[in-house]
Amino acid sequence: MKISFHGAARTVTGSKHLITLNNGEQILLDCGMFQGMGSETEELNDYFGFNPKKVNYMVLSHAHIDHSGLIPRLVSEGYTGPIYCTAPTMELTKILLTDSSKIITQDAEYTNKQNKKHGRPLIEPMYTEDDVIKAISLFKIVDLDTDFEISPRITLRLTDSGHIIGAAAIHLSILENAKVTKITFSGDIGRYNDLLLKSPKVFPQADYVLLESTYGDKLHSELEPVEEKLHEIIHQTCILRGGKVIIPAFSVGRTQEILYALNCLEEKGKLPDVAYYVDSPLSEKATEILKDHTDQLNKDVQQVMKHDDDVFKFKGLKFVHSTEESIALNDDPRPCVIISSSGMAEAGRVRHHIRNNIGNAKNTILMVGYAEPRSLAGQLKNGNKAVWIFREEHTVVADVQSIDSMSAHGDYNDLIHFLNCQKPEEVKQIFLVHGEYNIQQAFEARLHDKGFKNVCIPDLHTHVDL
Ligand SMILES: [Zn+2]
Repeated sequence: MKISFHGAARTVTGSKHLITLNNGEQILLDCGMFQGMGSETEELNDYFGFNPKKVNYMVLSHAHIDHSGLIPRLVSEGYTGPIYCTAPTMELTKILLTDSSKIITQDAEYTNKQNKKHGRPLIEPMYTEDDVIKAISLFKIVDLDTDFEISPRITLRLTDSGHIIGAAAIHLSILENAKVTKITFSGDIGRYNDLLLKSPKVFPQADYVLLESTYGDKLHSELEPVEEKLHEIIHQTCILRGGKVIIPAFSVGRTQEILYALNCLEEKGKLPDVAYYVDSPLSEKATEILKDHTDQLNKDVQQVMKHDDDVFKFKGLKFVHSTEESIALNDDPRPCVIISSSGMAEAGRVRHHIRNNIGNAKNTILMVGYAEPRSLAGQLKNGNKAVWIFREEHTVVADVQSIDSMSAHGDYNDLIHFLNCQKPEEVKQIFLVHGEYNIQQAFEARLHDKGFKNVCIPDLHTHVDL
């Protein structure tokens, strides 16, 4: 058999890996969208590098768009097989893809307006809400920690990867030539001390491991308690300077983590008395889904839940629904905290909030997670003095802060911890995926030190025979 890498190869988005058996059967692991890669993004998303009609099965590690975002396109181009994932992943993917289809349709409408003006040919949106509905009908729920027979030769097992709710590492046992080959795909790996989620779980010995490597060169700072840092930044910005705190945050995961931390501050009587807005309809839906799966949350949260029936709700919190309400926040001079998506500030309402608040030194833009270096959040995090938003250049006058310890991705110690259940001498090869190339190279050396001798950093659209 062989495996080919059609995304998240020497980069962090577009996760897509295809296993092809000798008999031609194909299993696709994830079908993610490339994001935040500047002018290249569209081109990358235009070309799968394989024929969707020939793929027999798909397994989805988790709901994030960089892992699920091209599923509707896969289906519209002829994929008709099942899409296996956990129940929370299915629910979250449904809302994320629906939202994504709306953004794509709006973007296409905008482009077509320009195209018409300039006499250029019109474009079709990459996919529509109808494609999403068709795609969701193919989803099949698989429980964690149980062996599930995909076909007589292929068995699937999903284990908690601790990254976002529902996120799983994928383990395949494939029988070929009277021999079983075990392939593990980590998906995205969470942290071993996450605020909300359980730690990534141990998994059976694998022959081949596809391992994410987002933070392969980084140790998260442990000395930065999220609650205290949030308190300090909100106090400084809102109470002392009378400004606004704008937090670009992923709707799924990060937003709920911040809400939980703020809820904990309230419990301790330390929550600054200002208005808190979650300005993302998607975030509200995702929060509801999380509330339906509280069994997946860690022991600390379960403990708080014994005396607090809603750990994502506190005094002053309001979910913003309509665009009008969102726009009204601009004209409201009162200090407040606005949590809004998207996390990399590449799309969504948060771009408006950043644009409207970036020019005032009273305000703070607070980064709370990974951002592709070229994305707006990435540029701000890098300390750029000026950024482009909606085709206009803006000088960065507002304070830019970040809480780096808030990450849905493990650092290199977490990644190595994930592999602790594996005997290095029995792992034939590790493929590093989902990471920037220079970071992957640094991480490769660490893996060698741990006894994993055969490490490969595959390039886009290349394949390796197993
Ligand atoms: Zn993810």
